[in-house]
Amino acid sequence: MKIKLDILVIGAHPDDAEIGCGGTIARHKQLGYKIGILDCSNGEPTPHGSPEIRLEEAGHAAKILDIDTRETLDMKNRYIENSIENRIKVADIIRKYQPKIIITHPPEDWHADHVAVNKIVSAAKFQAKLTKTDSPYDEFYPPRIVYFDHAHARIQRKIDFLVNISDTIDVKIRALNAYKSQFIDNRDNRAIFDFIKDKASFLGQQAGIQFAEGFSMPEYFLVQDITTII
Ligand SMILES: [Zn+2]
Repeated sequence: MKIKLDILVIGAHPDDAEIGCGGTIARHKQLGYKIGILDCSNGEPTPHGSPEIRLEEAGHAAKILDIDTRETLDMKNRYIENSIENRIKVADIIRKYQPKIIITHPPEDWHADHVAVNKIVSAAKFQAKLTKTDSPYDEFYPPRIVYFDHAHARIQRKIDFLVNISDTIDVKIRALNAYKSQFIDNRDNRAIFDFIKDKASFLGQQAGIQFAEGFSMPEYFLVQDITTII
C-alpha cells in the first residue's frame, strides 16, 4: 500500500533525524500524523559500528519513535556529494511519499555530509515537481522545507520557531539510546544525552515551557491567524 506522509525527515546519517528533531517526531506521532525518516547513508564506517548494526539500531529507534516508514539510501558516508544522481534519488523518495513538510539539516555545518544533504534536499524539492522524467513516481512539489537545529558547529544559527517537546523528550532520549554503537560503546559520545537535554531545556526556557526543539526556515513563516501564536 502506498503511504502518503505528513512529515519526511531527511538526514545524512542514521541518528541525525533523532538528534535534530526526535522530540518533534514523537510529538507529531502522538498527534496522529504520518511520519517517515530517510537516511541518505548507512553512516558507516564509524569506530564501533558496522552496516548491519547501524541498520538494526536505526530500525529500533524507528520503533521507539513509532514512525510509519524508514528508508536508507546508498550515498557514501563521509563523501556525500550534491550530485545530480543523489538529487534524483531523494526526489524519487519525495515523489513516493508526497510529504507536506520536509525537515532536514540547516545549511551551516562543519560536517560536509550534512551540508551536502541540505543542498541535495533543496535541489530534490524542485526536481520532484518536474514532468517528463524517468522517475517511476508521479511529480509532486512539497510545500515546505524546515531545518532542524543540529550541526557539528558552534555556528550561531537563527531559530524561527520552537516546538514543545516537554511530553516527548524521554522518547527522544530512548530513541538515541537505540544507537548503542554510537553513543554508549563510544565513550567519547556519551555526553550527548546531557547535551540534548540541556539544549532542549534552554530552548524551552525561552518559551516558558520545559523542553523545546528549535527550527529555522529558508522561506518566510506564514501565519493565517495571529492569535494562534503562543
Ligand atoms: Zn550526521
